[in-house]
Amino acid sequence: MSDEWQRQLSEFINTIEKLKQYVNLTAEEEDALRSIKTTWGTTPYFASLMDRDDPACPIRRQVIPSRQEQQNRYGMHDYLVWKENRATDEQRPDSIARQYRDRVAFTVTQTCGIYCRHCFRKELVVDGDLKLDFNVDEGLDWIAKHPEIRDVLITGGDPFLLSDDQIEYLIRKLRALPHIEMIRFGTRLPIVLPQRITPGLKKVLGGYHRVPIWINTQCNHPKEITETTARAVYELLSCGVNVGNQAVLLKGINDDVETFRELHQKLLKVRIRPYYVFYCEPAPGIDHFRTPVEKGAELIRDALRGHTTGLAQPMHVIATNVGKIPLMPDYYIKGKNEKEYTLANHLGEITTIPNIPE
Ligand SMILES: *Cc1c(COP(=O)(O)O)cnc(C)c1O
Ligand code: SF4
Repeated sequence: MSDEWQRQLSEFINTIEKLKQYVNLTAEEEDALRSIKTTWGTTPYFASLMDRDDPACPIRRQVIPSRQEQQNRYGMHDYLVWKENRATDEQRPDSIARQYRDRVAFTVTQTCGIYCRHCFRKELVVDGDLKLDFNVDEGLDWIAKHPEIRDVLITGGDPFLLSDDQIEYLIRKLRALPHIEMIRFGTRLPIVLPQRITPGLKKVLGGYHRVPIWINTQCNHPKEITETTARAVYELLSCGVNVGNQAVLLKGINDDVETFRELHQKLLKVRIRPYYVFYCEPAPGIDHFRTPVEKGAELIRDALRGHTTGLAQPMHVIATNVGKIPLMPDYYIKGKNEKEYTLANHLGEITTIPNIPE
């Protein structure tokens, strides 16, 4: 059973022939697969969640390339160089992306368990246009020399595709630095390859330590959550690792009230705490997934806040070159005078509270 995740990877679904075992491809899909030069694919487990006959299936649209990726009206050129502040004066290894004083994103691999069609790191991960060198020891050295860094977010690609030994090495090296207070992993594997959460990995991640480990995964649609997901998340929690979710708001996939609510309720059902919902970034080739900027706040108001458990509510943010910026509802303060504030709830119902001077 522990080797199941490696079997899943060795049988990665990345040819038309293999894909046809799971779905009846439309002519458009087959044309895109044959003509676009791009990395694509996912695990047999995740592929099995696709709808065989519906090309609009939310999982299918995240997995199978589309001709629309070749249209690029709004995507920014050299997006990642801008986004990850790679053109600034500070000398940093390629593996370190910095937007904040106290924390960095540390890229340790470019391999993924799914090559998401909406990925904002597409230039690097999916299309391979941007070439960077992810030398782990160079990154660790840089972090060691920067005592102001207290939080390291290990990302990729997907860092959980590294071997148990490689993950253990990263954790051990980071925990040896007195200034590191927490380690985070950004990994989609609890969703696309839950078999990766093995006893061996639990041993590497688990146990009490001064420096805790937090995980954020990415789940965008309730169909992505299964009994296998629930088990994997439970295993992570049972060894002391918290699991959050960072969804991407995707047009036609999760941008309607029912799906959005079901997604966030179902995440809590399997013990995943919603953390962020990301506005689909202005990266190249993903215009067809992008909603208006206001959409996320509207969905939080109309689907979540007041409509379901408060824990189900993520923060809607846009990730930019100057950090993540919240784009949250601004409906709640209706007015203010010397005596009182007038507030509105998610239904537009009004209440007042006293305005207490400082
Ligand atoms: C997203 C990100 C972080 C972490 O942000 P949080 O809001 O703390 O989750 C840190 N550094 C970079 C470069 C990031 O992109
Ligand atoms: S798993 Fe993450 S890094 Fe990999 S393609 Fe998907 S969004 Fe991009």
